[in-house]
Amino acid sequence: MREGGCACGGVRYRLTSDPLFVHCCHCLNCQRQTGSAFVVNLLIEADRIELLGAEPQGVDAPRDDGSSQRIFRCPTCQVAVYSEYGRPEVRFVRGGTLDEPRDVTPDVHIFARSKVGWVRLPDSAPAFEVYYDRNELWPAESLERLDAVLSRAG
Ligand SMILES: [Zn+2]
Ligand SMILES: [Zn+2]
Repeated sequence: MREGGCACGGVRYRLTSDPLFVHCCHCLNCQRQTGSAFVVNLLIEADRIELLGAEPQGVDAPRDDGSSQRIFRCPTCQVAVYSEYGRPEVRFVRGGTLDEPRDVTPDVHIFARSKVGWVRLPDSAPAFEVYYDRNELWPAESLERLDAVLSRAG
């Protein structure tokens, strides 16, 4: 099972299963929020993130489209460990906060239209200029898990 946490060790988490899907997002919002060229997000049901330490604190960050995105940070060192996009039942765990970031490989690259020029995308995962159709790309098991968690939430 994968574990991770913030820089100071206050926030520690364990993922109790594999993620639903792994995004590598090259959009401008992710670039700005991380101060980097892209973000690696593990999409997973919120109830499959077991917190072992402090409770991450939700901070709303404005996005280019006028909406806001809730980013969960360590209350002490402020490192962002996961975020929410719309539905709170699914969280986007930041791959760089895993103890072993090399354990995950993106299943898809999205928002390639704003990718920085020096990042070369691998042939091993599909890439999209903007977004993709979940029904076409996700494994059946992940689609079932998503249906289950969203229908439980009502
Ligand atoms: Zn911390
Ligand atoms: Zn993004």
